[in-house]
Amino acid sequence: METRKRHARKEDYRMRTHLIHGNFESKKWDFDHHVIPPISHSTAFRLSSLHRGAQGFVRFASADEALSGHVPIYIYDRLDEPTRSMLEENLAYAEGGEISVTFASGMAAISAALGVTARQGQEVLAHRVIYGCTYSLMTNWLPRCGVQVRFGDFLKPESLLEQVTPATRVLYFETPVNPTMELIDIAEIRRLADLINKTREEKDHLIVIVDNTFATPFCQRPLKLGADMVVESLTKDIGGFGTDMGGAVVAPASWYNHLMLYRKDFGGVLTPRSAWAILVYGLPTLATRMVNQQKTAQHVAKFLAEHPKVARVAFPGSECFAQKALAHRQMTDPDGKFAPGGMLYFVLKKDGGRQSKAEKLVDYLAEHAYTVTLAVSLGQIKTLIEHPFSMTHAALPDEQKCAFGLDPEGIRISMGLEDRHDIIRDLELALEKV
Ligand SMILES: *Cc1c(COP(=O)(O)O)cnc(C)c1O
Repeated sequence: METRKRHARKEDYRMRTHLIHGNFESKKWDFDHHVIPPISHSTAFRLSSLHRGAQGFVRFASADEALSGHVPIYIYDRLDEPTRSMLEENLAYAEGGEISVTFASGMAAISAALGVTARQGQEVLAHRVIYGCTYSLMTNWLPRCGVQVRFGDFLKPESLLEQVTPATRVLYFETPVNPTMELIDIAEIRRLADLINKTREEKDHLIVIVDNTFATPFCQRPLKLGADMVVESLTKDIGGFGTDMGGAVVAPASWYNHLMLYRKDFGGVLTPRSAWAILVYGLPTLATRMVNQQKTAQHVAKFLAEHPKVARVAFPGSECFAQKALAHRQMTDPDGKFAPGGMLYFVLKKDGGRQSKAEKLVDYLAEHAYTVTLAVSLGQIKTLIEHPFSMTHAALPDEQKCAFGLDPEGIRISMGLEDRHDIIRDLELALEKV
């Protein structure tokens, strides 16, 4: 591979540029002569000697080796492979972490993060409102492995001091919270975890894991704010086009070995084809898409807040957002500008009728709107709408949902890239009908 002499350092370029060009020189694959990295599809790799094969097994999952800049010895797709490796380098850089390990889906990444951190007999303390499948993983499957999960109120961080027991190993939350858009103060949770860690041996330290799916590394870098690990779904804004599933864990290099071995044995690898799409289309356009989505979200939030049939709007970019100071401190783009993201949640006023207003509105939009599509998932170029109470968060018990701000009249919108006037007109026409 030829090495070109660059006239400026990698750090001198801004994140938006990095997302497009990736690493200066990746040793993962010789794509010096490709404008677009090649897509590689090979489940096994030819080993030129037994010695090389043996060396490959010795080096596998070693963080020192991964960060050394050596050309890796690839053996078998499920262990490691070049397209995924290139994506991982770029994701780690975007999140400001040392290493990243990708998985077949966001849930596979979350399972791995919890699988490598919490052992039998230990506990996970999670925020009480989380993505439905994460909730189901924590309540149905982790207990079968002897890991108990309890739920606390991370919006009141001080209350965690009473909730943490000697068995607690992981503090887990999303911010913004899906779908209520409440924010959890990452730096404050770090401060409390450090207080508790002072009384513990290093091997028992609390580990703070943040799901950064809603904000994406463009709007928030949890590792810089004090998280130990970031998990995220690549299926959403990072993939960006709704064509491929994926997930990632970004963490300090000390976790690399565990994550790679876990992935090898549980087998939830990201396919090279999906890794390639996220590497070539998703991540390079993340900044451009987020900037435009959040501009639209700002206008749609204002329109909804002023609408007489709307009870409240939760969008971190709104003037009246309850946690405005925290939003401005925590949600910033890599240049330091406020970046509230493209997700919003709004609640309709009740009218005492039998059918929920939200249900009527969602059904009307599903049938008549051109720019607003009824579908789960989020972070695509098309605007998506859904009803969390009965769809994505159905796994949470009804009383819990109602107590924690997940309203039967609540609707979640993921802004797309359509013209905002069209989105607002579609919403306006539908609101007239309910
Ligand atoms: C979608 C989502 C996940 C799960 O990701 P998949 O790629 O669907 O497995 C996890 N957390 C949040 C916040 C999500 O929105």
